[in-house]
Amino acid sequence: MLFRRLLPATAAVAALLLTSACGGASDDTLKGKAEDGTLTIGIRFDQPGLGQRRLDGKFVGFDVEVAKYVAGKLGVPESGITWKEARSADREKLIADGAVDFVVATYSITDKRKEKVSFAGPYFQTGQGVLVRYTENDITGPETLNGKRLCSVTGSTSAQKVASEFAQDVELVEYGQYSDCVTALLAGNVDAVTTDEVILAGYVAENPELLKLVGDTFTTERYGVGLAKDDAAGRAAVSSAIEQMVGSGEWRKALERNIGQAGVELPDPPQVTEK
Ligand code: GLU
Repeated sequence: MLFRRLLPATAAVAALLLTSACGGASDDTLKGKAEDGTLTIGIRFDQPGLGQRRLDGKFVGFDVEVAKYVAGKLGVPESGITWKEARSADREKLIADGAVDFVVATYSITDKRKEKVSFAGPYFQTGQGVLVRYTENDITGPETLNGKRLCSVTGSTSAQKVASEFAQDVELVEYGQYSDCVTALLAGNVDAVTTDEVILAGYVAENPELLKLVGDTFTTERYGVGLAKDDAAGRAAVSSAIEQMVGSGEWRKALERNIGQAGVELPDPPQVTEK
């Protein structure tokens, strides 16, 4: 009797466990997370032309437009997106902890980062450059930085490149975000700032009478959309969305709208390789 009364309850609990286990599994993938029409996306808040939080609270830039396009293809409208700041040093952890569902934040695809996250794309290609004050005459490129104070951002490939190749002769100053490096440059507290040319060009566009780019680029940076390491279906879906953005002409329009004024040559879209 007791057994008969317990049985339906046990079955119900088992059924519940089974459903929640299945639900949990699908929730962990990007497609599962997008099912309720919402996503949390990591972007930059201080990079003009790429990812910027304007004073009116709006988020603008090429990375933001790529993020919105990808979200749209996953069935999530702009109103369903929560934007979260993803600084250079925080990106892998934000993704691994599930604090963001994906990251579109000038995020170079590297083998080291692939140990912790996976990448879709690439959706853009640029290279590392050098930014100086407009009145600077001594610094003309990376080979003229000896004895100078050079600012870059912790956790970036740019700072790593300086540490591995210029460290003996250059004093590296690291901040948490590029806008702080630019403030230090304008104040005379550092002599140059280094990171991807497209990022630096955004700051020049805001202050063309005070800042300039010098020398040629000296690395290749391929920007990917970062997402959870094991989400192969999510990676394929995001890469397919990027290909559709390029194929539809939206990619070029978004680039012209956001980077067109920055004074750098607009590149062709890179081949999507991370599928
Ligand atoms: N693209 C480089 C990187 O992923 C530099 C720009 C950045 O710090 O976001 O590290």
